[in-house]
Amino acid sequence: MFGPLVIKAVKSKGDKTGSWRIKVKPKYLQKDCIACKMCVLICPEHCVEGKEKNTYICDYDYCKGCGLCALVCPKADILMEEEGTKGKTK
Ligand code: SF4
Ligand code: SF4
Repeated sequence: MFGPLVIKAVKSKGDKTGSWRIKVKPKYLQKDCIACKMCVLICPEHCVEGKEKNTYICDYDYCKGCGLCALVCPKADILMEEEGTKGKTK
């Protein structure tokens, strides 16, 4: 009756989700980071990268400002701040 259901996995990074982020975005402080990778694992847009302590950063072209990375960071090394805050975002 029905054909096979085909679900295509698409990484969010295929779209620039950052274009509709309107209010807040994360600021990666790169001060107390212990490279636990929690921010990488939790990010629904797969837009956080880093290798060593204090190198983690997100790509704002794809960050939608959900705040999950800041929520899970055990060192509180990610702050959410208002979009357009001068001199505070990387
Ligand atoms: S706020 Fe953090 S978890 Fe959410 S999309 Fe941006 S980088 Fe990813
Ligand atoms: S969650 Fe925090 S401590 Fe862990 S890698 Fe990300 S920025 Fe560093």
